[in-house]
Amino acid sequence: MPATTAPGNFDVAVIGGGMIGPAVSLGLLERGLKVCILDEGDDVLRVARGNFGLVWFQGKGFGMPRYVEWSRMSATLYPAFAAELKSYTGVDVGHAQPGGLELLLGEEELAHRRHFIGQIYQQGGGKEYEVEFLDRKQVEDMLPGVGLGDDVVGASYSPVDGHVNPLFLLRAMHTRFQQAGGTYLPHHRVSAVKKNGAAYDLITEAGTVSAPKVVIAAGHGLKQLGPPLGLDIPIRPQRGHILVTERTKPILPMPMSAFRQTVEGSIMLGVSAEEAGYNDQVDTGTVAKIAERAARTIPALRELNVVRTWAALRVLTPDKCPVYAESKSHPGVYAIASHSGVTLAAVNAKVASGWIAGDPAPEQFEAFGVERFDAQKTA
Ligand SMILES: Cc1cc2nc3c(=O)[nH]c(=O)nc-3n(C[C@H](O)[C@H](O)[C@H](O)COP(=O)(O)OP(=O)(O)OC[C@H]3O[C@@H](n4cnc5c(N)ncnc54)[C@H](O)[C@@H]3O)c2cc1C
Repeated sequence: MPATTAPGNFDVAVIGGGMIGPAVSLGLLERGLKVCILDEGDDVLRVARGNFGLVWFQGKGFGMPRYVEWSRMSATLYPAFAAELKSYTGVDVGHAQPGGLELLLGEEELAHRRHFIGQIYQQGGGKEYEVEFLDRKQVEDMLPGVGLGDDVVGASYSPVDGHVNPLFLLRAMHTRFQQAGGTYLPHHRVSAVKKNGAAYDLITEAGTVSAPKVVIAAGHGLKQLGPPLGLDIPIRPQRGHILVTERTKPILPMPMSAFRQTVEGSIMLGVSAEEAGYNDQVDTGTVAKIAERAARTIPALRELNVVRTWAALRVLTPDKCPVYAESKSHPGVYAIASHSGVTLAAVNAKVASGWIAGDPAPEQFEAFGVERFDAQKTA
């Protein structure tokens, strides 16, 4: 076996340099721990480079009130988190929180959305839930000059929603991580994690890295790494497509679940959901459906050329809620998985990291544990 690559006496080794690993690692560094991130090469499944960039609250947490609060907390922490990244690294992650809309086409969609949002509100036992419904006129007032298609009957709206440039976020977090003394080890695909006395050895072709605590923030890699460590978490891939138009003048004042305009002027159109296994190839039929719906919703979009499209694979749990779990059989090994890694970056950096560092777990954190999947299996 090759010699240890980085004999750095790490306190925590984080597997995965995507969206979740760097966020948590920043918080660990802030707490004075010595941290390394091990990541793979370039041509791998990595959702951090294929997502839509929403920092989204409305509709999150169906079936899990704790996740509603967790998403809310991240939205609250985001402005300071983004400002901090900018002040340290000079990278503006483009975070904005102007509120967000889910535009609804036809009465059936509206009724379905009302029912869904109503259920999330009810599960909160009367707690404030900052989502409201707007009729067509109110949406028009909120989107002056946009010109809605005839089928738009209204929208759900939350003032909490926002967006960010996810690639700049990734760059800023990596830059800050290394600036703050973290060790980044690319081309270190971890094939196994083995107990070795009081520490764990992370085995890679480039060498072995040891640390007493390990965080698996490996996206789809958790499927292979988790089970031998007592973290058999039933994640699955779900494909989503995104289209990007040529740049145009600013027309969308706020993000929507299916559209957002970047600071540079492109309009991103999304986002589909297909069960296609690990196939992340672009499907032209799905692309056509996204474009058709976009044109029905905002007819002016028809005039813009689509310049890029791609598909990426969500890391989805059966209940679509995140997992934060420490292994019972391998104490000190943690798994974090979520299909909202962009939204949760701030709370992962500022709060989840404390739990890994050894602070008491945040209140009702067990809601994010893996036991819920056993309950779902037997339900
Ligand atoms: C189409 C689409 C749109 C999305 N839009 C949004 C959005 O608008 N807002 C939002 O909040 N979220 C969105 N997401 C989800 C978001 O991108 C993910 O939640 C987030 O990227 C997950 O972060 P992660 O770190 O778990 O996984 P990843 O970002 O995939 O990172 C995992 C990393 O681990 C590495 N790795 C894996 N296995 C190993 C191993 N064995 N050894 C070493 N390294 C390993 C991988 O190479 C990768 O770098 C979207 C996802 C999709 C597919």
